[in-house]
Amino acid sequence: MFSKRFKQLTPYTPGEQPQDQKYIKLNTNENPYPPSPMVEEYLKTTDTDLLKLYPDPGSQELREAIGKYYNIQPSMVFVGNGSDEVLSFCFYAFFEKDNGDLLFPEHSYSFYPVYCGFYNIPFKSIPMEIDLSISIDTYIEETYYSGIIFPNPNAPTGTYLEVTEIEQLMRKVHSNRVVIIDEAYIDFGGKSAVSLINKFDNLLIVQTFSKSRSLAGLRVGFAMGNEMLISALNTVKDSFNSYPLDKLAQNAARIALGDKDHFNDNCSKIIKTREFTVKALKALGWEIIPSRANFIFMQKKGVPGIEIYETLKNEGLLVRYFGHKGIENFVRVTIGKKEDMEVFLELLETTWGN
Ligand code: PMP
Repeated sequence: MFSKRFKQLTPYTPGEQPQDQKYIKLNTNENPYPPSPMVEEYLKTTDTDLLKLYPDPGSQELREAIGKYYNIQPSMVFVGNGSDEVLSFCFYAFFEKDNGDLLFPEHSYSFYPVYCGFYNIPFKSIPMEIDLSISIDTYIEETYYSGIIFPNPNAPTGTYLEVTEIEQLMRKVHSNRVVIIDEAYIDFGGKSAVSLINKFDNLLIVQTFSKSRSLAGLRVGFAMGNEMLISALNTVKDSFNSYPLDKLAQNAARIALGDKDHFNDNCSKIIKTREFTVKALKALGWEIIPSRANFIFMQKKGVPGIEIYETLKNEGLLVRYFGHKGIENFVRVTIGKKEDMEVFLELLETTWGN
């Protein structure tokens, strides 16, 4: 009954979304604050009659709003059902076996190798520096590749590259190879490299409404780049599902983008709580990789990562443990509300002291 290609699939394992018990959820980098009250108002007052018809397949109004926000043409914007879908379409459109390996960091978003498996794209994991940062030079040294992708800030480590470093990379990469910067976490203290898309036709910036705009449940992501790349993504979309974004998602995302005060306030609260948490953790003897994201990657000498994960889970608090070689002792912890982080810190202190 099953195709060969199906039997070869290795699916992504998402972070736990428990539906039974109530946990303090610091495991999937969601935003602890609600989305813009304007979104709430829209959803409460919207006429459900609008759901009778199919949505706009091109999400024109939303793309215009994103274009206006970033000062680019709507034709340079593609939207999809979460940035995961956008990324999947990118892998399909831009990377292939005949052009060499796709390059991405050794410790990075674990969906990348899954898409590679899905589309039969070979990849090469590029080693990180000893401090788990990404070094642009190691990518520049590579000569044969089908493309490059990495999150900035990186996940799960949280390290950040300046726009100048990305520009330096773009000057050196082959102009017929696409580079994707996955900026899922850029709003928590980084600067988007979107300004570079006018200079480099082979650069694509991918972002999401899931993190900084508290809309992980709405499923809206987008890509920004040269019109040729965007047009390719539209071709993939229209060969797969012409209506990836429903009407509510298109409208609610557009409305959320308009509420800059809520967005700024929300991001600064998370950044402030991150700095508070990092300081407290360091005082308890934990090692933290410097983070510009809404999560931190941490370890403590002599404490296995699995022990941290399991102990906290037993106490009703979820963090993310990967267990990959080289980062076995680390856990990734999402920045929640300050009171969540206080519970977290207290549990750490009680269990592992300082
Ligand atoms: N990129 C990175 C680096 C992520 O961590 C995530 C969240 N798991 C995504 C993309 C996908 O986010 P979404 O599909 O919710 O937009």
